[in-house]
Amino acid sequence: MRRFLIVCLAALLLFSCGARAENLPAWEYPIEPEIINDFEQYITLANRTHLLDSGYVPDDLVKVSVRRASGVGAMELRKAANDALAAMFDAAAEAGYTLYLKSAYRSYQTQKTMYNNRLQKMGRDDGLVSYPGASDHQTGLGVDVLNYAWTQKDGMNKEFAKTAEAQWMLEHCMEFGFVLRYMADKEEITAIKFEPWHFRYVGKEVAAYMMENNLSLEEFTEEWENYLADYEANGGNFRELILWRARVRDAVVVRVDPDGEEEYSIFY
Ligand SMILES: [Zn+2]
Repeated sequence: MRRFLIVCLAALLLFSCGARAENLPAWEYPIEPEIINDFEQYITLANRTHLLDSGYVPDDLVKVSVRRASGVGAMELRKAANDALAAMFDAAAEAGYTLYLKSAYRSYQTQKTMYNNRLQKMGRDDGLVSYPGASDHQTGLGVDVLNYAWTQKDGMNKEFAKTAEAQWMLEHCMEFGFVLRYMADKEEITAIKFEPWHFRYVGKEVAAYMMENNLSLEEFTEEWENYLADYEANGGNFRELILWRARVRDAVVVRVDPDGEEEYSIFY
């Protein structure tokens, strides 16, 4: 990596952007700009029109620490998703439900193999296995969670939604930062059939917002992208807003300059 990093206190940026940033229009979108900035890539959208790069591998994958379905080998998730999932499994257990992780991170290559196998078996794309690069599982934030009975079945379908475990997860997932990724009433938007077992980590703030407003990740993405476009069209400057808020909070800003392209990463 031919990158150079200059670590400096955000306060030093006052000279370059602070004075103007204070005159920026107020940010009125219900989600904080730092989350929308998505440095952590927790709200990354992966679907047929937003394909992940074939070489995209999250850099903070850890071995999953929760109970796995029998016959399922070692699995990985991004650290935040694994921590959140462990908390959700614990809470479910306290409520009397035993959850099993069936699937977690999948590499581009694994997804490609699965997609081609499905295509061969069904003779067409039936919307149950994502196209390579379009899988939520490649983000390292998507999980398939079942109860014991369903781990013993060959295949999954929407009937799983009727189980007490699926209903508990639907009701409580947002408390741990997860959303139901492929909702029953959003099949036309997500282009994926209802999957009552597939949850996606997006962080607690976004999860609460999406679940309370019944938004798929596609709709949420479109909503904040529209807000951001309006914000910039009305005199806002998102980058300056982020840097100004960092300065106010005494955050450390890391300036990254990969081959002449400027980026900013901000740590609180
Ligand atoms: Zn899944």
